[in-house]
Amino acid sequence: MPKKSVEDIEVKGKRVLLRVDFNVPLNINTGAISDDSRIRASLPTIKYLVDHKAKVILCSHLGRPEGKVVENLRMAPIARRLSQLMGLPVSTAFDCIGPEVESKVGTLKEGDILVLENLRFHPEEEENDPGFAQKLAKLADIYVNDAFGTAHRAHASTVGVAKYLPAVAGFLMNKELKVMGKLLHNPERPSACLIGGAKVSDKIELLQNLLKKVDVLLVGGGMAATFLKTQGYEVGHSLIEDDKVDLAKKLLQEAEEWRVPFLVPIDAVVAEEIRAGASTRVVPITNIPSGSHIVDIGPQSIKLFCSELAKCRTIMWNGPMGIYEIPQFAQGTRAIASFLCTLNATTIIGGGSSAEVVQAMGLTDKMTHVSTGGGASLRFLEGATLPGVKVLLEKK
Ligand code: ADP
Ligand code: MG
Repeated sequence: MPKKSVEDIEVKGKRVLLRVDFNVPLNINTGAISDDSRIRASLPTIKYLVDHKAKVILCSHLGRPEGKVVENLRMAPIARRLSQLMGLPVSTAFDCIGPEVESKVGTLKEGDILVLENLRFHPEEEENDPGFAQKLAKLADIYVNDAFGTAHRAHASTVGVAKYLPAVAGFLMNKELKVMGKLLHNPERPSACLIGGAKVSDKIELLQNLLKKVDVLLVGGGMAATFLKTQGYEVGHSLIEDDKVDLAKKLLQEAEEWRVPFLVPIDAVVAEEIRAGASTRVVPITNIPSGSHIVDIGPQSIKLFCSELAKCRTIMWNGPMGIYEIPQFAQGTRAIASFLCTLNATTIIGGGSSAEVVQAMGLTDKMTHVSTGGGASLRFLEGATLPGVKVLLEKK
């Protein structure tokens, strides 16, 4: 069921508490914002509220202050960046609840923007404490959630507050739900999912759910080793989750029952050590040396995966094909990212690392959708109802 959006509610003159996900990466040495895409992603909602004369009160978490004030996790630099992006003044508050914040909110005029202090300076935020949620709610007349990336967490600002205010979705939230909902329920076919990343255990539920939704599954990355092992191949020192071998077997059987092709790499880049500068070799999957690690998919696998993806109208990609943090082991991941851009298909990138690669390669605009929520998109694609989505009003 689609959710009510900011367009479905009168916001003029109202105090609107807008939960955003401004948890941007910061440079650890300088504290500078290293990537502001999460701020940019919520601009349409903020602009809409400003243009429609709401009093806009933004709240977000930033980093992991663990319930205490951490000076370099204050929201002020983010408010400054927002101000630059909006071309408008943006004020800040020294806390996110309490009498001082309330009086500051009281001075807001229509179209003004206020950024509250980091929600996670209070332990009650992550505890979804009702008293804290009520104090947040007291600041506003309407609650808008645009923080898709935090919607899988039941916190005071994502779930608790919705009990006390009319709660609707922002444009980013609705876009994420629409694109990924379509992938699950009525994709343009054929559809494919390409899954990579470190561990099978992180993505078992994802694979189980997608198996029943898509026309072809492709698996690369560290998790491929467990499937290869299941099929009887030697995988050397590659990380195997022994307790997941049975589950991997079961998944392969299910794929067969559902008649969904399940492709694994046919060759691999192997290295004796996982470090920059290590010497590497390309070997067929039948010939992984016992003393080596699989660090990337090989050129034949890239070719195979690309020819399969080229047949598809909808493609969801989640998780890198290799240990992409080491440039030498990033070729498979980079080749897939470049290839996806050339296709005339719906391309959806979910997963923190995959989104990071796409962003770093400057390809974000060439994909149909790059999800702003790694963990949240994973949970959504597993078929879960996200707690932060559940509490929003339904559009009749
Ligand atoms: P995403 O954030 O896109 O969902 P994951 O968090 O599941 O992806 O996995 C990302 C991690 O997977 C990266 O740190 C990467 O180094 C690791 N990885 C990918 N391929 C391998 C491999 N062959 N061996 C070990 N780790 C791998
Ligand atoms: Mg990740």
